[in-house]
Amino acid sequence: MNFWLRHRLLLLSLSALFVTLLLCSLAIFWQVQSDLRNDGRQRVRFGVEQLDQQIRYVETFVSQELQDAPTDCSKNSLRELQLRMAGFPYVRNILFARDGMIYCSVQHGAVSVPVGKSQPAMLSFPESGYFPPHTPIGLYTLSKQHQQVMGVFGVWHIAHILTTLDGHSALYFSSGELWMDAAGNRLATNPLSAMSGTQIELVSAEYGFRIATVVPWFPAWSVVWQYSKGFIIALIAIGVVAYRLIYRYLSRYNSALAEMRNGLARGEFVPYLQPLNDSRTGKIKGCEILMRWQHPVRGVISPMQFIPQAEESGLIIPMTEALVKTVVDRFAALKHRLPEGFHFSINVTAPHLLAPTLDDACRYFLSRFEGCPVTLVLELTERDKRLMEDEVALRVQELKALGTLIAIDDFGTGYSGMSALQTLPVDLLKIDRCFVSKVLVDETSEYIIRNMISCSNDLHMKTIAEGVETPEQHQRLQQLGVDYLQGYLFSKPIDLDSFIATKL
Ligand code: C2E
Ligand code: CA
Ligand code: CA
Repeated sequence: MNFWLRHRLLLLSLSALFVTLLLCSLAIFWQVQSDLRNDGRQRVRFGVEQLDQQIRYVETFVSQELQDAPTDCSKNSLRELQLRMAGFPYVRNILFARDGMIYCSVQHGAVSVPVGKSQPAMLSFPESGYFPPHTPIGLYTLSKQHQQVMGVFGVWHIAHILTTLDGHSALYFSSGELWMDAAGNRLATNPLSAMSGTQIELVSAEYGFRIATVVPWFPAWSVVWQYSKGFIIALIAIGVVAYRLIYRYLSRYNSALAEMRNGLARGEFVPYLQPLNDSRTGKIKGCEILMRWQHPVRGVISPMQFIPQAEESGLIIPMTEALVKTVVDRFAALKHRLPEGFHFSINVTAPHLLAPTLDDACRYFLSRFEGCPVTLVLELTERDKRLMEDEVALRVQELKALGTLIAIDDFGTGYSGMSALQTLPVDLLKIDRCFVSKVLVDETSEYIIRNMISCSNDLHMKTIAEGVETPEQHQRLQQLGVDYLQGYLFSKPIDLDSFIATKL
């Protein structure tokens, strides 16, 4: 696997890990929220059921007394009432009123207290007048013609229900304008309106009161932990394992970079040369300098395996410059044996092109061949996205002024297409191997090559066909008018000594 692929894999796995953890955390929160909502619904329902039942006892007693209400408040009547009341739980007192005046209370005997208007059946929570605020009570009233009977029950029964059903969100009781919390406190306003979360409430179908709660959007961590302990532990374990794997990978990646730096210091990056031949005469016209890593243990390593990481880390610049210096130093001594204008092609990436050191490297290269001029070609691959940037065009002009030629490598496969020819002063087009390899079998490829040649002629450029492998391809490309050929048919890239021994 090459470094670029590994790097992408790392990014991919990190993003996948991040997305997974994020989704899992969201899922946990969503799950806990949903559990809390269910719990809230259940508690609210239990609350309404229990309170309905208590008020139903009061209602039964009140309706029974309404049938046969005492006309006075004599001792006998009171005794009988007390006896009957003892059989009914939750009823604390019973009041009889006629024409808006209470005339009898089981607890206080005969009284004469005005009472407000009431509907035929009504639940109310008075806090003034006859009903002192320090003993909060609820009233269940039934009326028939002029007669009213009121069952009194303690509000603490309601508070007790709210307290026993207490959970992760507080329960509140409400009837009409009244709001009450689990401590039995009357609240001036609706407390739920100030809370953010999902509001859950249930209204009693029989008595019209409601019990409500608000489940917060973001439950507290302690609650999340309580609900999803197992899941969270599993998630942390997955995170730790993934972190360790990625950490191990990164250490290896960094050690690969360190190895490359050491390799550079030890001169392990060596040039291999591949000849460039004239398509008509078949004579050698130049060579392309291709990098190899002469690894002490792994042997000769292909550039595809280390160039991407070298580019990414910026090491490609010192690597290429060291490579070019090796070639210059070796060939300068043999300059008289080189055909005039012999091409030396170097592969240059956009960051390298922009580096100021490239000017000196080019000047040095050309100066070493004084008296026997050679051609220095800078190959810019069309696969480089930065090729179309303005600063690249400016740099190309500067480097051309030094006497170099510019070639567009892998032409027809990259991002820029024909637009590179609009902005860059190009001298050579290198037709990519993917078109050359199909020139005899696929009409479209031939058509594309024809177009490239015609375009190059019109713009006064020369063409080079890459990856020529058979004599038939050679012949066809020659007929089509390609100027130079490069490929295994002539030679694979070979080391300096072999090149000098066999090609010059
Ligand atoms: P490239 O610049 O397109 O180089 C041509 C590649 O095609 C070379 O692969 C060469 O060995 C291969 N090739 C040539 N003729 C044939 C053929 O007939 N058939 C086949 N199948 N392949 C052929 P190589 O040497 O493995 O280099 C691969 C790439 O690595 C180069 O593609 C270039 O992009 C990059 N590279 C190599 N050396 C350097 C360098 O010094 N600097 C930079 N920046 N990139 C380099
Ligand atoms: Ca090239
Ligand atoms: Ca190429």
